[in-house]
Amino acid sequence: AERPYIVGNWKMNGTRSMLAEARAIDRSSQRLMKVEVALAPPFTLLHAVHREVEQIGVGAQDCHPGADGAHTGDISASMVSDAGAKFVILGHSERRQDHGETNTLIREKAEAALSAGMRVIMCCGETEAVRDEGKAESFVSRQLKASLPERIESVTDSLTIAYEPIWAIGTGRTPTVEDIEAMHRTIRTLLVDLFGAEEAEEVRILYGGSVNAENAKELLSADEVGGALVGGASLTAESFLGIVIAAA
Ligand code: 13P
Repeated sequence: AERPYIVGNWKMNGTRSMLAEARAIDRSSQRLMKVEVALAPPFTLLHAVHREVEQIGVGAQDCHPGADGAHTGDISASMVSDAGAKFVILGHSERRQDHGETNTLIREKAEAALSAGMRVIMCCGETEAVRDEGKAESFVSRQLKASLPERIESVTDSLTIAYEPIWAIGTGRTPTVEDIEAMHRTIRTLLVDLFGAEEAEEVRILYGGSVNAENAKELLSADEVGGALVGGASLTAESFLGIVIAAA
């Protein structure tokens, strides 16, 4: 299988003083080549981080679905690509909540990102209420199916899924390994249905939500977990590298 993929999502954090963390993460990752490491800084740091690093991947946290034009404050896929992004995180629950992003809009953004030659990290995840009702897997399947483009060329190379249960984000709570495995198997089944076994078997499915250096080894050992999407613990080189080392 592919190398584990550990992605740091800096969310709305980071000024230029944090470039030193990006550099430290990059330099140490050069000695941990068994792991694929990437960072998604805010737009304002994208190009600076891109220039700062040699080894790790750099991506954006969003893009607009359109090519260009009169959209004040928005950033297109080709613009983030030009700034150095090789991937875009889409469908994150914080964008769904804070900006009312729908599955349809997310699908359009994914199509734009893929057309611009970038990879997509497509996020999905249920609320606590949905999990308590026992409907987490059917909810996530429907959400993903509606958010993913119908056709994706070379799915293996261009798509990563991140399962992030909303109740686990920034809370210090995580699902059990069994629950993660069940969800990731459900996601794998959907991907095989949508894109065919040959392509879909190799798509990495990341887990995200309160991953830290202490719990990373257990979470990453779960079946079908191809890596982690990390928020809070990606903000310092020390805590993020703890996760990268656990993945190695
Ligand atoms: P935390 O690691 O802070 O829980 O955030 C997870 C997340 O939302 C990553 O995209």
